[in-house]
Amino acid sequence: MNIDAVQKTLDDRREPAFRLAQAKRAFYVELQGGWENLSTFPKALREALEEQVPWDSLKAVTVQSSKRGDTDKVLFSCADGQLIEAVLMRSRSGRNTVCVSSQAGCPMGCSFCATGAQGFKRNLTADEIVEQVIFFARRLKAEGAHVTNVVFMGMGEPFNNYDSVMQAVRMLNDPDGFGLGARHITVSTCGIVPGIKKMADEDMQVNLAISLHSADDRVRTQIMPVNKAYPLNALMDALDEYTAKTNRKVMFEYLLLEDVNDSDSAAHELAELLGHNARLYQVNLIKYHDTGKFKASGQDTRDRFMQILRDRGIPVTFRVSFGEDIKAACGQLAGLAGNKKDEEE
Ligand code: SF4
Repeated sequence: MNIDAVQKTLDDRREPAFRLAQAKRAFYVELQGGWENLSTFPKALREALEEQVPWDSLKAVTVQSSKRGDTDKVLFSCADGQLIEAVLMRSRSGRNTVCVSSQAGCPMGCSFCATGAQGFKRNLTADEIVEQVIFFARRLKAEGAHVTNVVFMGMGEPFNNYDSVMQAVRMLNDPDGFGLGARHITVSTCGIVPGIKKMADEDMQVNLAISLHSADDRVRTQIMPVNKAYPLNALMDALDEYTAKTNRKVMFEYLLLEDVNDSDSAAHELAELLGHNARLYQVNLIKYHDTGKFKASGQDTRDRFMQILRDRGIPVTFRVSFGEDIKAACGQLAGLAGNKKDEEE
């Protein structure tokens, strides 16, 4: 729902100010499904709003559920026909995490990612981002549950759409609106240094995650072109500055790719890169999901990699993946009628 458009319609009709709060409450708190449900609004007002402001700007085209039943992936069509995806993961611990897209497509070209292979279409608006969460919140409400976490790990690079992403975070966090605690929201970047610096100055306790995937500039540049613009020394300087300012943890995501970044020496390099700040830096190893170009590392390799990090004092977890069978897992979102849905083990 476009709140500015609602405000304009209410102003044009000289409606009392409390109508906006009622509309927001119906949308974000009561999770109503349409203007027709606002029984406290006079019929003529409901009809005017219905005509001028769509209740939802996203239309769900398909909803797929994983065989295990713990993951739902939705393909949405935006008002201009762009296709985006979002995913709900239900963990056994009771967490219901929504992974949202921040862009239609992505210009960053990470070679392991299905979204990157598609190229960039456009930035999403804050409303389009928030509505992905609202969609799942309505479904969960019907089951007596609610969204507990939101991660910006779907299609797109959030810091390439910084203002809309932060606006969406504020909307989700608004205590008079959706009311999700900032600590339950995570923004993940492939390493856009100016975005990290800006986020360090935000007065919100939002979590930051970095798609790292290699501690070697040569390898990282091969698999993540962003490393040419922001190599590891620039990235780590920005993160050291971020942690010094915020005292907040940073999660480093690391996809294990066979014979690319999974050797013992790669694990030692990673420990070297992060060891000076092991109190606030932690590693999340992720199982690679086939997008055609790479192979996933085997379990023995993963166990060895983890042990090296542990022995060197680096906090490390391994993610249990969600939704691989419906291409809803990390790196698989493509905005087709077919990234990142994982929970820590
Ligand atoms: S991993 Fe993220 S930043 Fe890289 S291409 Fe995919 S969506 Fe874009």
